Amino acid sequence: MGIFSKFVAKLKGQSTADPLVWKVLEEELLAADLGPILTTEILKSAQGLKGDDALSSLTQILNSHLSAKPRALSDAGTVGVVLVVGVNGTGKTTSAAKLANLLKSSGSSVMLAAGDTFRAAAVDQLQTWGARIGVPVISGKDGAEPAAVAFDAVKQAVEMKADIVIIDTAGRLHTKVNLMTELTKIKRVIQKFIPEAPHEVMLVLDGSTGQNALEQAKQFTATTEVTALSITKLDGTAKGGVVLAIANQFKIPVKYIGVGEKIDDLIIFDKHEFVDSLFKGVTNS
Ligand code: GDP
Ligand code: MG
Repeated sequence: MGIFSKFVAKLKGQSTADPLVWKVLEEELLAADLGPILTTEILKSAQGLKGDDALSSLTQILNSHLSAKPRALSDAGTVGVVLVVGVNGTGKTTSAAKLANLLKSSGSSVMLAAGDTFRAAAVDQLQTWGARIGVPVISGKDGAEPAAVAFDAVKQAVEMKADIVIIDTAGRLHTKVNLMTELTKIKRVIQKFIPEAPHEVMLVLDGSTGQNALEQAKQFTATTEVTALSITKLDGTAKGGVVLAIANQFKIPVKYIGVGEKIDDLIIFDKHEFVDSLFKGVTNS
């Protein structure tokens, strides 16, 4: 069931002049994690809608809140460098592997870099994925500096003329200053090889954490230049509205969504498809 099913049911056979219709919509938007800002915006633009047109207009309004367009990585013209950032547990390592697999299947030569050197398990995790999908994983010795791993990875990617190198990172929020210093260091060393890198800084957010994901987006975008979003764990949550709330508030394109733990559970985000899914279960009868 899409998040707007109750609203649409309510709208049927009722006039949009009925304040109760809008009350239901407001409740559904908030329950779906669109957050108060976007909910108010949508309600405001939806108020003037009339009867039968209300549904298609609402679809248009939602689409317009997802207007930022992602840039293509293949435009890099050199080794494309993707830096994966985000808080621990959001799905960075899994998303890095899924993305490597996706790009490899579309014909790119891809490398992974195990930049989360703080936990041995994180390196193992990426290596396991790499072996499974047939993508080389560059890692350092125990206790290696993340920036040193990134340096090695980009160097090798350039030498091997790879198309894309995806750098996984650590995400310890409690040492935010260190984390940001680390990211700055990583960027500096890769720019030694490719001045315009990273071509993509992908922030991974756990969509099932709702407004918390919004807060993380706020913190990361304030301290590092994020160019794309990947929102994970949208399987098993009825709160997909957070995708809209984040895209709208930060004007950063949502590029991927994670819908499970398996390697092919990463979907290239399609805003029309996404908005349509919010109305799933709504029939015209
Ligand atoms: P990291 O700490 O940010 O690197 O997070 P991980 O990639 O290690 O993922 C943390 C947990 O979330 C793992 O158990 C993953 O399998 C799981 N996970 C990642 N993405 C998804 C997703 O889209 N859906 C679900 N259900 N689980 C996910
Ligand atoms: Mg990780």
